[in-house]
Amino acid sequence: MTEAWGTLKSFAGKTFETLDPEFTERVSQLIGGQDLTACFQCAKCSAGCPVSDKVNVQIHEVMRMLVLGLPEVLDTDMIWLCTTCYTCQERCPQGIDITDILFGLKNMAFKRNKTPQGYVSSRQQLYDTGKLYQPTDWEREDLGLDTVPHLDLDETKKMFEKTGLLKLEEDD
Ligand code: SF4
Ligand code: SF4
Repeated sequence: MTEAWGTLKSFAGKTFETLDPEFTERVSQLIGGQDLTACFQCAKCSAGCPVSDKVNVQIHEVMRMLVLGLPEVLDTDMIWLCTTCYTCQERCPQGIDITDILFGLKNMAFKRNKTPQGYVSSRQQLYDTGKLYQPTDWEREDLGLDTVPHLDLDETKKMFEKTGLLKLEEDD
């Protein structure tokens, strides 16, 4: 089991004091969220999820938390360990766009400052350097590729500014 990132490690011993129907309403307005309440907890999504053994709150439990109106869902590691493979979405008998909802939950978590530090740092590194890591010439040589090409940082920054890479934080 990898180290879990979220502050909500599991339901064990956890008491949820309040249900927040407004939270459910907000999630239902996310892309994919319109069918949220159709979830009948069959857990077929979790049965096919490749990170189910890495998280302490499974994807079907995430869906339950959304329906019940539990904003604590934003503290779960499922949101960040999801590989966005779309298996759950493909398997859901109710046709719920689960993975798309997870994208929206990431944004919500980000705005509430609940993002793992590694993601925040990676985002800044991508903006500052245009890369998430420094490829080496020998790695490329092994693959039969030319040396590391020049990167025009002004152009990558323009691209990231257009895509709003740093915008979410400003909107908070
Ligand atoms: S597969 Fe669909 S209906 Fe079943 S628990 Fe997951 S989200 Fe709910
Ligand atoms: S998209 Fe995410 S939650 Fe769904 S099966 Fe893949 S890893 Fe699991």
